[in-house]
Formats: sequence, structure tokens, C-alpha cells
Amino acid sequence: MKKGFAVIGLGTFGSTVCKELYHLGNEVLAIDIDEENVREVMNNSSYATVANATDQEALESLGIKNFDYAVVSIGEKIQPSILSTLILKEMGVKNVWVKAKNEKHHKILEKIGADRIIHPEQEIGIRVANQLDSGKITDYIELSKDYSIIELVATKRVSNRSLVNLDIRAKFGCTILAIRREENVNISPMPDDIILIGDILIVMGHVKNLKRFEEKGV
Ligand code: ADP
Repeated sequence: MKKGFAVIGLGTFGSTVCKELYHLGNEVLAIDIDEENVREVMNNSSYATVANATDQEALESLGIKNFDYAVVSIGEKIQPSILSTLILKEMGVKNVWVKAKNEKHHKILEKIGADRIIHPEQEIGIRVANQLDSGKITDYIELSKDYSIIELVATKRVSNRSLVNLDIRAKFGCTILAIRREENVNISPMPDDIILIGDILIVMGHVKNLKRFEEKGV
């Protein structure tokens, strides 16, 4: 079953999250204090409305507590972002993801129970740097400070060899989660599956092991 999302604050970040979630087939409630911003996402959300996210009654009347996730993207002012997060957590919304403006904002959000704090520019900066640093890495997801998932292009070194033969987990401590070949994705690779040059390997592991694998293994 698809999940329900409330997106609060429809600037560049919030409206992008809103549209993408909606196009992925989810139910998305979009909220902003500014009528123009609400109008912008009218055709790219399940329901878009003008409301003040610091007004508890307004949020209650929109039934926000029934949503699985709320994304608070009120970046320019810290106070309404904090107040809105606090209200959402007190109302019992299980997953509240909040865009933070700076470290002070981050610390306060952490204290009041935000479930995930997002720094879009820093996060994208890290991802871009990793893509630039390695010609082989095509995508990068940070799971925590220490663990990541990366997408690597298979080179000649691993081509025409099976996973059991390469023994990547034992040698590098990394796990191949999936192998993408053109349009096809093999999401549960078997030990005797063969890697071909140009395949995209989706690999999970400790950042140090991933780096080692990227440099010496693939
Ligand atoms: P970005 O940096 O992603 O473009 P901003 O963080 O500047 O976006 O956008 C914040 C959005 O939050 C704006 O659209 C603004 O109208 C909205 N906003 C500000 N205060 C409130 C509030 N109290 N309730 C709901 N929306 C708000």
C-alpha cells in the first residue's frame, strides 16, 4: 500500500519533494502559508491548501496525524520550522523529516524529536564530491556516518567473473545488493551470477571498505 505524506513549506525543496512523491504514486497533502506556492503544486499533489504550519488547530483539521510522514521544509525562518515540528510530534506523527538551515537549527530539531534532519546542500555536496572523486561511482547514498550504498560501473577487472569467484564480501567486506544491466535489475544476485563489463553494481558497506573495493576490486 502507498504511504501518505504531508509536505509543509513549498519552496524549491518542499515543492520538489511534493511533486516527486506524488509522481511516485503516493497520497500527498501540500501545505504552505503562501497562496501562490500552493497554486504551483495544485496539479502535482493529492490536495494542496493554504495553512499556517504553526497553527495546531489548522493542522488538526487537515487530519495530519493520520499521515505516515510529514516533511517540514520551512527553511528561511527557524522559529516556525521548530514550532511546526513540535506540534507534529506532539500530535503523534511517527516520521517527521525536517530541513535544517544551520547547526543551531539542527540541534534544536534533534532535541524536540525530529526523526530525520536534512541539510540538502551539504548532502548533495557530499554526493557530488564522491561522484567527482571517482569516475566509477555513478551514485551514492549515505546510510550513516560510516555506512553507504554506492553504484559502481563494472570494469574489465571483474568482467566475466561470478560473484562467488570474486568473493567480494570476504575480500572487501562489501555486499553486492543488486546488479543493473541496461533496463534489467537483478535484485537478489546469486553466487554464480556473472558480472559483465558496464554492469552497474549496487554495493553496500563501510565507507573505508567501499573505497578499497572501488580502488582495488572493481
Ligand atoms: P527553499 O529554500 O527550499 O526554496 P524555503 O525554505 O525558503 O525554500 O521555503 C519555505 C517555504 O515555507 C515558503 O514557501 C514559505 O511560504 C513557507 N512557510 C513559511 N512559514 C510558513 C508557515 N508558518 N506555515 C507554512 N508554510 C510556511
